Amino acid sequence: MSHRRRLAILVAAAIAAVAGLFHAGCAWASDDATVTRLLGAFDALVFWDDGRALVDARKWRTTLRVQLDGAPSADEVRMTMAAIATAAQAAGLAMERVAADGNFIVRFDRDAGYVVNGRRAGCYATTGATLRGEIREARLFVDRTQRNLRRCITHEVMHGFGFPGHPEGIDSILAVGPSQRRDSFAEADLVALATLYDDRMRAGATYLPGLLSARQIIAERVGAVAPGAAADHLARGHLAQAVSRLHARAEGGDAPAQRLLGIAHYLAQAMPRDDAAAVAWWRAAAARQDIAAAFWLGEAALAGRGGPADPVDAQAHHAMAAARGHVAAMVRTAQALEQGRGVARDPLAAAVWYLAAAQRGNALAKAEAPRALARLAPPERALAEARARGWHAAP
Ligand SMILES: [Zn+2]
Repeated sequence: MSHRRRLAILVAAAIAAVAGLFHAGCAWASDDATVTRLLGAFDALVFWDDGRALVDARKWRTTLRVQLDGAPSADEVRMTMAAIATAAQAAGLAMERVAADGNFIVRFDRDAGYVVNGRRAGCYATTGATLRGEIREARLFVDRTQRNLRRCITHEVMHGFGFPGHPEGIDSILAVGPSQRRDSFAEADLVALATLYDDRMRAGATYLPGLLSARQIIAERVGAVAPGAAADHLARGHLAQAVSRLHARAEGGDAPAQRLLGIAHYLAQAMPRDDAAAVAWWRAAAARQDIAAAFWLGEAALAGRGGPADPVDAQAHHAMAAARGHVAAMVRTAQALEQGRGVARDPLAAAVWYLAAAQRGNALAKAEAPRALARLAPPERALAEARARGWHAAP
């Protein structure tokens, strides 16, 4: 071994020792920074459509059936399947390639000149989800003449897994800006995939509860807390920032933000419980035609929170939201009509609401509908079924 080589090894060993000490020295201090950084990325990737509109979490619950259209080359197939496989593995999702009838469809075009929301796009993706936030279909459009095709494909695959965000200043395949030239998933992307697809993250999770679940999952993943141990002490700064961002939107008149802030106050999510504030925010949102806010006003009036218990007022709010297709409000309306709570008893109308809610997938309504029907005489039963079949939400 030459002197120079031996010296190089010694220097390398010394650097490693110093690095090790440094790392061990601030391990506990940096846990919070790591969780904050990864939670910030998750926040920007999942809950902000293109950085602007606040959206609920969306995720796949089924096997991906990948279909590649437009006769891609062997290279394009390899690149696409590799990106999807990496994301699916991080998410713990099963996938298969199919020739037809796919639900994850990638179409290859040439010099396509896509225009999305008035802007030219090299590639783009759309996803279709149920009201409960379960993605049923993704369509990716890839212009194969793009200079960095791998980046284009990987970026759209990430969108297809339920990440509508384009974060700024975060190392991610979805990041935008002139400095963003990565063509593979970043650590923040893989952690976001694992977090979104963790069973504790509900499809359709809303902003603050979604962030609280994400903090717990991320904290466990990076070893900042033991599995199941509380992570409440971590990323407090980010949570406070999220609350104030929600506040700013709510103050600006954004009805979904007003409703979410009301729910956060009511359920003490990332803030202390405050029923009066919750009701005030829901009133503001309901005045802007937010039907879910009307449902929550009904809940508060029923429970006597933020004001005296008032079954008539509760029923009025629930009936209004039910008429517009809010499924949980349909169940509340059915219960009120069944029990004569805040409204005259009407077993036939109750059965119609249970059936209509059951048809829209509500589990409680599915369990209650047969019982409500059984209490009716056969002609009334037929009438209830016909009315439920013909029921449509008011516009
Ligand atoms: Zn994009």
